Amino acid sequence: KSKPKILVLGAGYAGMMTAKRLSQQLKPEEAEIALVNKHNYHYLTTWLHEVAAGTEEPNKSRVMISDVLNTKRVQLHYDTVVEIKKDEQRVVLENGELSYDYLVVALGFETATFGIPGIKEHALKIENINSSRYIRDHIEYQFARYSSGVDRNEDSLNILVGGAGFTGIEFVGELAKRVPELCKEYNIDREKVRIINVEAAPTVLPGFSEDLVEYAKKSLEDRGVEFRIGTKIQECTEKGFIVGDDREEINAGTVVWTGGVQANSIVGESGFEIFKGKVNVNEDLRAPGYENIFVIGDCSWVMDKESDKPFAVNAQSAIQEADTCASNLTALLRKEPLQSFQFDYKGTVASLGGSDAMGTVLDDKKLYGMSAKAMKNVIDDRYLFLVGGPKLVLKKGKVRFF
Ligand code: FAD
Repeated sequence: KSKPKILVLGAGYAGMMTAKRLSQQLKPEEAEIALVNKHNYHYLTTWLHEVAAGTEEPNKSRVMISDVLNTKRVQLHYDTVVEIKKDEQRVVLENGELSYDYLVVALGFETATFGIPGIKEHALKIENINSSRYIRDHIEYQFARYSSGVDRNEDSLNILVGGAGFTGIEFVGELAKRVPELCKEYNIDREKVRIINVEAAPTVLPGFSEDLVEYAKKSLEDRGVEFRIGTKIQECTEKGFIVGDDREEINAGTVVWTGGVQANSIVGESGFEIFKGKVNVNEDLRAPGYENIFVIGDCSWVMDKESDKPFAVNAQSAIQEADTCASNLTALLRKEPLQSFQFDYKGTVASLGGSDAMGTVLDDKKLYGMSAKAMKNVIDDRYLFLVGGPKLVLKKGKVRFF
């Protein structure tokens, strides 16, 4: 009899760690493992705001998949998933098709525009390495045009960011570091460049405590970030945002939307039921009604029975879900009972650019400034260690040992 086939879709935090764990847990005779990803590299999504601002090299933020997975155990397919035919146990790719006995859907997020007209067409997005690199190059192009005299309109130097959630705040933090460097390089007065963050909610960084929010906002304002909080974006045009009831125009040469994410649309288009942008999975991480399909990472929600709210959806939970998903697949193959996912919250730290950051760790201990930044680096390196061992930490790690 042929071996059962496990197919993992997407090599983000969730898919990579699932494939890694499966290759460690299952004996070769127990199952075939295959991983499909758009590219031959895995990228560190939580570093993309740095790539977009130009404070981190794109290559530093990506890892060749074949360098960190055991390619004798995991078959790699570099291709794009087009559709999941779940009732036929097949996945349609751009250049072929694969069948499976067990499926892990870990295709990550895409931008949610909340129906704001023009965002899709006109705003840039921090979605992957290439879209982030495009933002970096676009910003630099605006500086080059201005300083060379091709474009003397000062608005073209402005950088407008929609959304003051985690990504938006981390991005403007990096811009606060990058813009002075660019000004120096292109001989442009720093005063001429505005970094403007627009947010409809009454505060920035929902979910963080008030003092942390105040700290972040003040730190960013001190470094030249302008906030327009409680300001609704009515429309995004080629020139910028139209905001508020009086339809004020804020113009900028660079417009970036960081306002929201939802599950990769392939999931909904393949007939999975979507609830608030994601699949509401069972506590063992399987899609309702499907014994052999797991949906993890940014494509799903898992309800926390205790609080009656979904667990946080982020890299931290994606990595932990991968552990539960791999254990549950192993259990299914061995006909053992499945576990329920339990999120072990280890804290959250947001970087604010340069050596500044803030957040909470462990039992809600608050950290600010350099100690928070050091913790952020430790969090980033811990993941590198999990996925690629000490070799990867040495190659890409952020903690400086000397
Ligand atoms: P992803 O990391 O998005 O990976 C999905 C993978 O699937 C990618 O490799 C992609 O190439 C591949 N893929 C997509 N479509 C296809 C297709 N059709 N065919 C084949 N392959 C495909 N979370 C935290 O916990 N802490 C943080 O500090 C933090 N900071 C963040 C900063 C930024 C700028 C952003 C954008 C997010 C941040 N997050 C953070 C959230 C976190 O990055 C996500 O929750 C996490 O990436 C989800 O992991 P994932 O594996 O589900 O998806």
